[in-house]
Amino acid sequence: VESIDVLIIGGGAAGFFCGCELLQMNPNLKVHIWEKSNKTLAKVRISGGGRCNVTHHILEPRFLIKKYPRGQKYLKSKFQEFNVTHTIEWFQKKGIPLKTESDGRMFPITDSSETIACELENTFNKLGGILKLKNTVSSLTSQDSFFHVQDLFGNSFIVHHVVFAMGGLTHSQAQWIQELTQAKVTPMAPSLFTFNVKDPSLHKLMGLSVPQGRIKLQGKDSEYVGPILVTHWGISGPAVLATSAWHALDLNECHYQQNIFVSWVSEKNEDIIRNTLRQELQERANKSILNAGCFKLPKRLWNWLVEKSKIEPNQNSSQLKKEDLNRLVEHLIRTPLKIEGKTTYKEEFVTAGGIDVEQLSKSGHLNSNDRIYFIGEMLNVDGITGGFNFQASWSTAHVAAKSIIYKNRNAS
Ligand SMILES: Cc1cc2nc3c(=O)[nH]c(=O)nc-3n(C[C@H](O)[C@H](O)[C@H](O)COP(=O)(O)OP(=O)(O)OC[C@H]3O[C@@H](n4cnc5c(N)ncnc54)[C@H](O)[C@@H]3O)c2cc1C
Repeated sequence: VESIDVLIIGGGAAGFFCGCELLQMNPNLKVHIWEKSNKTLAKVRISGGGRCNVTHHILEPRFLIKKYPRGQKYLKSKFQEFNVTHTIEWFQKKGIPLKTESDGRMFPITDSSETIACELENTFNKLGGILKLKNTVSSLTSQDSFFHVQDLFGNSFIVHHVVFAMGGLTHSQAQWIQELTQAKVTPMAPSLFTFNVKDPSLHKLMGLSVPQGRIKLQGKDSEYVGPILVTHWGISGPAVLATSAWHALDLNECHYQQNIFVSWVSEKNEDIIRNTLRQELQERANKSILNAGCFKLPKRLWNWLVEKSKIEPNQNSSQLKKEDLNRLVEHLIRTPLKIEGKTTYKEEFVTAGGIDVEQLSKSGHLNSNDRIYFIGEMLNVDGITGGFNFQASWSTAHVAAKSIIYKNRNAS
């Protein structure tokens, strides 16, 4: 019976990174990756629109964790050990410098996800890692200090550590994991999607964007700030994606039927907005309200707001009645829209929920069995868009690898 030191289940970002780290720390280990499909690193290859947004330029772990709707507490210690600085250094050492875009997202200098995927595959391969495609575990039986594992072809192995790195779980995968390991799984739902809005009047705004809008779900306190884009199916952009991430489970529960309020400006204080609007309208005293465009809003949006506020379009802007001004302010900062469904964001989507991190040690193994590890997206850990999800994969993979190496060293 073949003996394996570490069996990694899943050949994605987290699985390969863990395999590379294990073999870099100890090239004598026998490490296997079993991948159920016929392709490795499929998501890395399509990620970031084919450019792979590897991480995000937030070097301080305490600020970095703020970008994760789920798993902040769990990630805190992982980021102390392996954070964005380590990711940058890791790829730099491999001859892959990362560059930072103006919004903080980091990409390989080649602008190609293939660079990242090939590097992970080559490193694992060169260090003697064994990859098996179209294979997975069919049975796993725990003994005192190892597992008896059978693969899909009926081959038996003695395995010392098992690292699950299966990516975002489906319900059947979650059930499989539970049966195999007794691990608990939290409720799951998609995250990082755009909102469908059927309001026909919104179609007039199709294609326009504001650089700093705000989104708030009815009945919730928090607001999400960032660019908002009107698409042909509804609204998109970073503020929408952030809202979808922070409320992934709530929105799933209400079947993506939810009232929201959109502010088209970044200023929060209503008095400041009213005064600025009054002042800007005074400055354009010789213009009609329709031509008075304030807050540097796109013209089509301004016209739409005037129409929505039921203001006579030819009225002189300096003579706006108080009630008209109030209605304009109301629409500017609280346009009500109804979400009716969601659309998957093509650049990046992830699963919220998964392996409950409460049952895991700081290194990522089950408290009830220190030879079973969980890493990557299958954890109940996920970030907003911008490279945070890969960073969680690199960090959880590194910490698991280090813990296995440490245990292995002490055992021998
Ligand atoms: C279109 C798209 C673009 C993205 N772009 C970005 C980006 O630019 N930046 C970013 O930070 N994040 C991005 N993400 C998210 C990111 O890809 C994931 O968070 C990341 O890949 C998670 O890594 P993982 O190894 O945990 O899972 P995955 O990369 O999903 O890998 C899991 C692997 O396990 C295999 N597997 C599953 N079950 C089994 C089993 N039973 N046995 C054996 N193998 C199994 C799967 O086939 C898969 O190969 C994107 C996601 C998508 C969908």
